[in-house]
Amino acid sequence: MATAAVPTPTSAPVPVAIPVREVLPWAAFMGFLALFLIYFVGAEQGAFAIFSGNGVHEFVHDGRHLLAFPCH
Ligand SMILES: [Zn+2]
Repeated sequence: MATAAVPTPTSAPVPVAIPVREVLPWAAFMGFLALFLIYFVGAEQGAFAIFSGNGVHEFVHDGRHLLAFPCH
């Protein structure tokens, strides 16, 4: 008589509780950071530019084209 190679679980797995109050500030921070980065990739140019010159534009230029933002 063969025995099973995988032991059968005796109890159901208990899901891990994720407290929303602890996650919410980090989610808001990451959302703000994402919007900040999307601004630099998508709109940091011309009249909307925070920094003068083309330094930021050239630094994120490939990302701009990868994300299909209009450029030139
Ligand atoms: Zn371009």
